[in-house]
Amino acid sequence: MLTSSQVKQKALELGFHKVGIADAKKDYQDGAQVNLEKWLSLGYHANLAWMENEHRRNIRQYMPDVASVIVLAINYYTEHQHCQDPNFGKISRYGWGADYHKIIRNKLKQFSLWLEAQDQNIKTRFCVDTSPLQEKAWAQRAGLGWIAKNSNLITREYGSWVFLSEVLINISLTGDLPVNNHCGTCTRCIDSCPTSAIVEPYVIDSSKCIAYHTIENREDQLPSTISAKLEQWVAGCDICQDVCPWNQRFAKVTDIDGFNPYPENLSPRLSDLATISDEQWQKQTQGSALRRIKATMIRRNARANLKS
Ligand code: SF4
Ligand code: SF4
Repeated sequence: MLTSSQVKQKALELGFHKVGIADAKKDYQDGAQVNLEKWLSLGYHANLAWMENEHRRNIRQYMPDVASVIVLAINYYTEHQHCQDPNFGKISRYGWGADYHKIIRNKLKQFSLWLEAQDQNIKTRFCVDTSPLQEKAWAQRAGLGWIAKNSNLITREYGSWVFLSEVLINISLTGDLPVNNHCGTCTRCIDSCPTSAIVEPYVIDSSKCIAYHTIENREDQLPSTISAKLEQWVAGCDICQDVCPWNQRFAKVTDIDGFNPYPENLSPRLSDLATISDEQWQKQTQGSALRRIKATMIRRNARANLKS
């Protein structure tokens, strides 16, 4: 019979940096559901319609016979730093290198095949980022870290520079203990957000967030309240993670080469991005998670920075 420790050992062998297990049948009284409903009812998801997906409310709608949730984390921090020269744009660390979906999906596939090969009755379903799961809540339940005041999941070993993914499985494995919150009295992320998007601890209003607007807003122009405060960000925003003492103390350089920045992503000149052609942007974002940002959007984001 497959044990939790065998599962965890295999995950680590495949290159995941952290792994934990949560009990999918347990009714965790951690407020995750209430918080999601409140966030949606206040419209803080802006036009992120997929956040309303019913599956996010009940994991069994996603996989009816799920018994355990194996949560995995991959550290993506590299030693490179953002350029502070105002002539250059800033791209969030998650988008610097190769598309994390592809890197993680390869590992998840191998992991799932291995799990299913252990017993013919074992069934799995894996997810990375795009699936309708409350993945940060599951990560906290599985003991990987805690949902912090900036709404990221913080791990003790790597800070919040981790990508999360999950394997849902139809057998009961011994679960881990949920992690307590260690933000304490700190409010650095809230105080540092240039657009006051962290409207209260743990609550982000997407319509005020630079990351949301630079990546998800498809309008021709950014709202003036955002464009005036971009602080060089053209794709995402890492401010509330950069200032976090857990990241400053515990970030570790990843061993996954693919997360090293494409040279043109580290400090792109704003004037170049403001006029970049569709073809050049396509070329520059090949195999990158930045593909989600259309050429029209990156030009808009760069121009907004140049005007502010
Ligand atoms: S990502 Fe940037 S804009 Fe959004 S909450 Fe964090 S600091 Fe504020
Ligand atoms: S900056 Fe402080 S409050 Fe914000 S996430 Fe980090 S520890 Fe928590």
